[in-house]
Amino acid sequence: MTELAVTTWAARAAGLDIDGRPFIDGARRELGRPGRPTTSPIDGRALATLGACGAADVDTAVAAARRAFPAWSGVSAEARKHVLLRLADLMAEHADELALLETLDSGKPIAQTTTVDVPGAIATLRWYAEAIDKIAGELPSVPPGATAQVTREPLGVVAAIVPWNFPLEIAMWKLAPALASGNAVVLKPAEQTSLSVLRVADLAVRAGLPDGVLNVVTGSGREVGAALAGHMDVDALAFTGSTAVSRTLLEASGRSNLKRLSLEAGGKSSNIIFADTADLAQAADKAAFGAFYNQGQVCSANSRILVQREVHDEFLALLREAATAYEPADPLAGLDGNGALISSGHADDVAAWIERGRADGTVLFGGGRRTIAGSDAYLEPTLIGGLAPDHALHREEVFGPVAVLQPFDTEEEAVAMANDTEYGLAASVWTADLARAHRVAAALVAGTVSVNTVDALGNSTPFGGFKQSGFGRDLSLHAFDNYTAPKTTWFQFG
Ligand code: NAD
Repeated sequence: MTELAVTTWAARAAGLDIDGRPFIDGARRELGRPGRPTTSPIDGRALATLGACGAADVDTAVAAARRAFPAWSGVSAEARKHVLLRLADLMAEHADELALLETLDSGKPIAQTTTVDVPGAIATLRWYAEAIDKIAGELPSVPPGATAQVTREPLGVVAAIVPWNFPLEIAMWKLAPALASGNAVVLKPAEQTSLSVLRVADLAVRAGLPDGVLNVVTGSGREVGAALAGHMDVDALAFTGSTAVSRTLLEASGRSNLKRLSLEAGGKSSNIIFADTADLAQAADKAAFGAFYNQGQVCSANSRILVQREVHDEFLALLREAATAYEPADPLAGLDGNGALISSGHADDVAAWIERGRADGTVLFGGGRRTIAGSDAYLEPTLIGGLAPDHALHREEVFGPVAVLQPFDTEEEAVAMANDTEYGLAASVWTADLARAHRVAAALVAGTVSVNTVDALGNSTPFGGFKQSGFGRDLSLHAFDNYTAPKTTWFQFG
């Protein structure tokens, strides 16, 4: 990126006038009470005042969605496709602005929000818009004298609650299939990162999305999220976030109206490197990506690296080198590498994990904290080894740029170590032995197993977990299962 481009990003950031009011029933709304200031983890600058919605605002948004649902679900799939494709075009026209909002709000480098987060969200929106008028129902086999059809029906009002690590992309993983299949949505972004999706809601008006079909309610999880989870008129709730909050959502559904849930929760994913890996340097590059990309704040981060003992030392040297690509830098400078963690407070928590690792094992590289532009929300990519197998760092999600390294001897031992977790979101395997690749992939309990790569993901493949990583799948045609239900209509004529 040129020096001019760098100056431009900083100048554009300074010139932004950001609206933090919630979007309900087709417009931004004044709540008539003080909002909450939101600041950037990059340098602590004030960004906007976020509307502090309460239960009454959630009621208003749900009622608007309920009113909008019959008309939106009643138009043809092709008509919905055209509105959503227009929204995708508008997002592409505003891509720089959306990327800047995402960077300022989350601390991600602008080099990534411009190339990954915003284009990724647009691609997901286009994928579902294009899919929706190509899906057919079923004509099942029934006895003579009858015919039956199975159609996919939208559920009604869908709530979506999303986290701060990929604010726009994960919001779009929910919004795109829910809207395409004819539902009306009330989305609650994370309180740390509400700005980009609020802007998308503004653009949705220009795209022709009818009022009430998309609402964005800002505010705290305990108030706004809980109000959605316990709401009697929300038909389904799609969630991405922690396992702890997932449990409260299940309880709230049971106590209220049995709204159906899809839960993408936490993870502690393993990356297994066998000694027969064809290209150990490539495996190390990808392992660094798997552990440290997005400041390690990735639910499917490959934060447990298991390496066969004969190549342990060689691999460690390669990984140390590869990790230098994830050194923190000013997120607005246009550089690759890492930006700020979501907040200084979260960096404190991650730094405490590093100190625990230092006390009980060995920091193999990294471990330091950095201050950039007056913010101390930056951490070096860090690898810890020498921990007891049952150490908390092997089992609990750190959600920062911290990985653990464990040697293993046999294939059976590697599989047992990888599966020894309450989570089951993802796993990676590196080997040149085709039979071993199949054996190990089959034995791993994970929603996605990547072979000779890490963290493989695409719009066409389902993403989600086994065990306490949750249930339901984002992405692919399977995501429609979260937002539709099969309906049988049986015609008896004989
Ligand atoms: P979080 O669970 O604290 O918050 C997620 C969302 O839930 C936020 O919008 C928050 O406001 C809301 N929330 C908080 N308390 C709530 C409550 N009581 N009722 C309803 N809503 C509530 O998670 P986080 O800290 O924002 O994100 C990190 C977590 O998300 C990690 O555990 C990570 O693994 C997980 N995650 C999972 C996936 C996946 O696809 N499996 C993807 C990204 C992140």
